[in-house]
Amino acid sequence: MKTIIEPFKIKSVEPINFNTPEERRQILKDAFYNLFLVKSDDVLIDLLTDSGTSAMSSDQWAGIMRGDESYAGSPSFFRFKDVIEDITGMPQVIPTHQGRAAEKILFSILGGKGKYFVSNTLFDTTRANIEFSGAEGVDLLCAEGKQPSVPAQFKGNLDVEALKRFIVEKGAANIPLCIITVTNNSGGGQPVSMQNIKDVRAVCTEYGIPMFIDACRFAENAYFIKLREAAYANTSVKAIAQEMFSYADGATMSAKKDAFANIGGFLAVRDGALAQECRNLLVITEGFPTYGGLAGRDLEAIAIGLQEVMEESYLQYRIRSIEYLTNKLIAAGVPVMQPAGGHAVYLDAKAFLPHIPPHEFPGQALAGALYEVGGVRGVEIGSLMFGKYDENGAPVAAALELVRLAIPRRVYTQSHIDYVSEVVIEVFENRNDICGLRIVEEAPLLRHFTAKLAPVR
Ligand SMILES: *Cc1c(COP(=O)(O)O)cnc(C)c1O
Repeated sequence: MKTIIEPFKIKSVEPINFNTPEERRQILKDAFYNLFLVKSDDVLIDLLTDSGTSAMSSDQWAGIMRGDESYAGSPSFFRFKDVIEDITGMPQVIPTHQGRAAEKILFSILGGKGKYFVSNTLFDTTRANIEFSGAEGVDLLCAEGKQPSVPAQFKGNLDVEALKRFIVEKGAANIPLCIITVTNNSGGGQPVSMQNIKDVRAVCTEYGIPMFIDACRFAENAYFIKLREAAYANTSVKAIAQEMFSYADGATMSAKKDAFANIGGFLAVRDGALAQECRNLLVITEGFPTYGGLAGRDLEAIAIGLQEVMEESYLQYRIRSIEYLTNKLIAAGVPVMQPAGGHAVYLDAKAFLPHIPPHEFPGQALAGALYEVGGVRGVEIGSLMFGKYDENGAPVAAALELVRLAIPRRVYTQSHIDYVSEVVIEVFENRNDICGLRIVEEAPLLRHFTAKLAPVR
């Protein structure tokens, strides 16, 4: 087989500012070893997130010019609605400024004290909106999904037996929704199988519980189904996506992921009465129902992006890029989460830096080293992000110490990815020189964004 090439040509470029390891050592020190405090102009390859960082196509930019900014009834809204209705089969389409705005509206209506929302894994903003309503979020991920180094085909699947037990224990009346996140972002971008979606749907139907899809990466998930679930090998990605949504009563989506947009999101439902309640909230928080929290030009860019993301040449390049980087690192002995997920490569910092204990933040130390050596910015997903203190003030470690390298869509070429692998491998060869970090200042909530750190020696 020949090299899988980027399925696009480059018309407009953004220059990268080069700096030296010595300069980056000082930048890192000035940023208190927290990469969120580094200016993006000082980063060579920015893998902090795949959210809102996609490159738009020439068609999307043309759509930006076509965008109609009428307050009510804009044709841009109808193009947006038609595309979403075609993919999801859901006639009620509500635009929002991000995914979390759709969540806020949905859980304000369905949430509240004493309620439980069950999922394979809730993303942090989803969980936060559920908890803010007074309800509880419950993750019921399959066993293989909890083991980073054990490869399996569909590590994002929901544990169907655990779901049944949970419903019997808490009572279906206290469970307003079951939410399947595709792909499972917080669980390494791992896919959910069509069989699992169908099985969850059957349980939900049996107990009269509606099922929603958190659809941020629906196209990446559909492509994994095509590759890995035999019955779908000859089905188009669009038909797979349509079948996934056919089992759901509603969906939320951040257009900053699989719609190639820099901002935007939506809520789509089948039930007209629920949609009316959602629109009542929409007008006081987001805007009029035909623009939500968006400009007409954003609606156009999203409508076009949602169609482009289902092109198989794109998805082949996308999924292959992540797998290519993962495989290069595995070949060099670097510990990574397996198999490759849909949008990011996860380094296992606990195995990478066994000499650094969790309370000295091995993931943060590794992320700092990748920046210093190669100007590559990833993000720690470990004890700095999720660690806590016990009642005696002693640190409680997170379950995993990871560094996520999220790959923006259509932004970097194979040579950028090769460079990233060279940087990771160089850091791995010199891993014994890396020392741990301690916190010198932290905020009470979401401390990883602003914490100041210093080397322990
Ligand atoms: C990003 C994301 C969200 C939230 O979307 P925003 O646009 O960032 O508000 C929700 N769920 C998942 C799975 C996500 O990846």
